[in-house]
Amino acid sequence: MPDASHSVARQLDVVMVGAGLAGLYAIHRLRGLGLKVRAYEAGSGVGGTWFWNRYPGARCDVESLEYSYSFSEELQQEWKWPERYGTQPEILKYINHVADRFDLRRDVQLNTRIKSAVFEWTANEWVVKTDTGEEIHARYCVMAAGNLSTPRVPDFKGIHDFKGKWYHSGLWPHEGVDFTGLRVGVVGTGSSGVQMIPIIARQARQLTVFQRTANFSLPARNGPMEEERERKHKAEYPERRAAAMDTPFAIAGYPKPTRSALDLSEAERNEAYESKWQEGGSISYLYAYTDLLVNKASNDTASEFVRNKIRSMVKDQRTAELLAPKDHPIGTKRLCLDTNYYETYNRPNVSLVDVRSDPIQGITATGLRLASGAEHTLDALVFATGFDAMTGALKEIDVRTTDGAALREHWEGGPLTYLGLMVSGFPNMFVITGPGSPGVKTQMIASIEQHVDWIAGAIDHLGRHQLDRIEPTPKAEIEWVHHVNQVADSTLYPLANSWYMGANIPGKPRVFMPYVGGFDRYKKRCDEVAAKNYEGFTLSRHETVAA
Ligand SMILES: Cc1cc2nc3c(=O)[nH]c(=O)nc-3n(C[C@H](O)[C@H](O)[C@H](O)COP(=O)(O)OP(=O)(O)OC[C@H]3O[C@@H](n4cnc5c(N)ncnc54)[C@H](O)[C@@H]3O)c2cc1C
Repeated sequence: MPDASHSVARQLDVVMVGAGLAGLYAIHRLRGLGLKVRAYEAGSGVGGTWFWNRYPGARCDVESLEYSYSFSEELQQEWKWPERYGTQPEILKYINHVADRFDLRRDVQLNTRIKSAVFEWTANEWVVKTDTGEEIHARYCVMAAGNLSTPRVPDFKGIHDFKGKWYHSGLWPHEGVDFTGLRVGVVGTGSSGVQMIPIIARQARQLTVFQRTANFSLPARNGPMEEERERKHKAEYPERRAAAMDTPFAIAGYPKPTRSALDLSEAERNEAYESKWQEGGSISYLYAYTDLLVNKASNDTASEFVRNKIRSMVKDQRTAELLAPKDHPIGTKRLCLDTNYYETYNRPNVSLVDVRSDPIQGITATGLRLASGAEHTLDALVFATGFDAMTGALKEIDVRTTDGAALREHWEGGPLTYLGLMVSGFPNMFVITGPGSPGVKTQMIASIEQHVDWIAGAIDHLGRHQLDRIEPTPKAEIEWVHHVNQVADSTLYPLANSWYMGANIPGKPRVFMPYVGGFDRYKKRCDEVAAKNYEGFTLSRHETVAA
């Protein structure tokens, strides 16, 4: 029940949904413009992805020296990452440090879920309601609700009959889980599954992995941060961050490829792939040649190299063939990074079950039953089944306007945005790294900073010109969505049934959601749009009616 203090609506300049890396930077940046801001966060702590995903082995798959904020030179110089790829606890510690160092917490309200957001045309403001009964009025609404923040727990028949405990990777208990001596089942072999399986295998008595789709994974080659590497990187930080802006993935330090994979002999190509394999990381591998993501014949060479690696690492050849992906070109689904993933299948206590050929029929009191009738007895079940990606969090909020528009309806056939930043018909609502932007295909903190800076620039521009409303024209939105799809169609991405397409959610429209033309091209376009007086947007002045 709402308490008395909730009966008075709070008045802000900017209301934000979410206090992950995006919401926190937005507080800092927009506060710098003198705006009154506040972020509402469903979780009991800040950090978003890194607050929720506490499963064993959770860590970033972009090197931490890159996967960190760049907005403060002091911050990036003073923070020390103990390993090449930060673990979830380490990244969460970093985010909490940032929240304290920049005094962000006073504008964050935890344990509060935003249920609805309605744009009042007459008052020219967003009216946002929380699950605690509060009402917030604000000129601008910033959706920093995350792309991978709505966990997808499959609605298997009988899940509630299961006598053991079950978990989702994205809703992991804070106290951790001890699998010692248990028969554990893991459903899902995407990034989270690939990270947790080697660790659970070391604890559990028996681990059964239920795989529907094999994913490509490359070795991370994680290890302690080398002092010299850190020193050099930090000395070059400003140049490196600037150089990242001119790359497709917003990550600097990889030589730009100049040749097609098909320009070389098989031996030369494999030598290059081997050296990338030894180096570790995904960018280096996918960036080996100019055309790995646009030319199927080129991609086949890179895919086959990894499939052969899998065959050489996994002793049982039937298991190896199941683990070797054949239904999508490498890189067209999120490429996983691992530490001993494939080798884990050589352990006597680990087995792989192909649920593509024999689908999961349901959960029973004692485990899991397949369509063939085969039963697997389990003490604990882990769903590493991912998220309702990119649109899930926004669709859970009832976003409307007082003239009857509803975001869920506007996006019925797939998300429509202009630059992934705004939606036509929904003025003054900004989305950070939304569908139609390259966000999820990049080092996301760079994309977050680029979006927040663009949004800050737009709000500042409006203020300086005595304007108070911005929205994309329907024409600009349609043209952008068309462009996003055209670019995707010129690549190999549509060949994969991925979450980029909404393919992991039954009934979700199959539309390619991220912009895959590259961060560099995208940023240039955003900057040009702003420079041309916000081309494609309508900017106007609205005489606010006094309440
Ligand atoms: C396991 C995992 C590993 C990843 N590794 C990498 C990586 O290595 N490199 C990379 O670039 N990216 C990675 N990502 C992507 C990652 O999501 C982003 O890098 C980044 O953390 C996104 O920050 P965000 O603030 O935009 O969203 P989030 O971190 O998802 O934060 C959004 C917040 O909004 C809150 N929220 C949502 N809806 C509501 C609502 N209605 N009311 C109130 N609060 C709400 C959520 O609770 C959440 O805390 C990874 C993602 C996952 C899941």
